[in-house]
Amino acid sequence: MPIYAYKCESCGLAKDVLQKIADPVLTDCPACGKATFKKQLTAAGFQLKGSGWYETDFKGGNSCAAPSAASEGAACAACPAAASATDAS
Ligand SMILES: [Zn+2]
Repeated sequence: MPIYAYKCESCGLAKDVLQKIADPVLTDCPACGKATFKKQLTAAGFQLKGSGWYETDFKGGNSCAAPSAASEGAACAACPAAASATDAS
């Protein structure tokens, strides 16, 4: 089940919410009750996984041949770690 990062634009409450993909997007802030609770674009689970393989591969000298492609969100075919990260999501 994916975790979504939400943030309230009124009171600034940031919260990670565990939701099914079919669940409706939340809008009401649990702290202030206003309908300014917005889902953030970054998924917490993917972020953790992404920084993990990035640091391991680049510090080890086994660098990806196309870092620009990786930064654009496209998986680099030469990077086995990037391919497995894509499969997992
Ligand atoms: Zn709020």
